[in-house]
Amino acid sequence: MRGFYSKLDSSSVSTVVPLNLAVETEKAQALLQTFSTASLLASGGLGAFCFLVDPFLALPFIQEHLWLRAVLDNAVHGIIGLWSWAIVIGLKKKSDFYEVVLAGFLASIIDLDHFYMAGSWSLTKAVSLPRRPPLHCSSLIPVLSFSLRLIMWFCRLKDSWCSLPWMLFISLSSHHIRDGVRRGLWLWPFGNTAPISYWLYLSVTATLPHLCSVLMYLTGTRDMISSKHGIAIDV
Ligand SMILES: [Zn+2]
Repeated sequence: MRGFYSKLDSSSVSTVVPLNLAVETEKAQALLQTFSTASLLASGGLGAFCFLVDPFLALPFIQEHLWLRAVLDNAVHGIIGLWSWAIVIGLKKKSDFYEVVLAGFLASIIDLDHFYMAGSWSLTKAVSLPRRPPLHCSSLIPVLSFSLRLIMWFCRLKDSWCSLPWMLFISLSSHHIRDGVRRGLWLWPFGNTAPISYWLYLSVTATLPHLCSVLMYLTGTRDMISSKHGIAIDV
């Protein structure tokens, strides 16, 4: 049968046998996509970007200007966040661009907790806190992501929102790993790890999108992403 087309929903899955094949095919393709040449090149590019941008940020004229240093450092967090999410979802349609911008925004905005903790918009105070601000606690990442998933489930939000907890996960994780080169990870209530080695930071940053993709596949999130616009196949 050519041109078979169906929107996925619970009733059609149970009654249309070929659709099971369609779902499995789509799941396999979604997983394979994360290890495609384009995807691997994109993650290699992400690692290379980190490798090149950090010496640039260390240049004296940037280090001497506190605000410039903070803005550029925050922008790099944002770029890593949006780049990572772009690898996870692939850029196939217009709404994907909105998603990656949101991921970059999330990866950047958490640094505002420095100002919250300082109780001031003074950058000098924000970067000289006696302890780390709350959104830099890495133990919170699974808690926040899972809480968001529960909220979405309780509010019965549409499947088009299903990837939001994973977007939050990758945005926060990429930010924490980068900060971890200087200060380690804060794993409350266990304390802080030693600073992350630079090469470990590059490796984890480049592989995190693929890990996220596999976890999304294992938890079924990729099925929902794939099925939210229906599946067109030839059988
Ligand atoms: Zn930070």
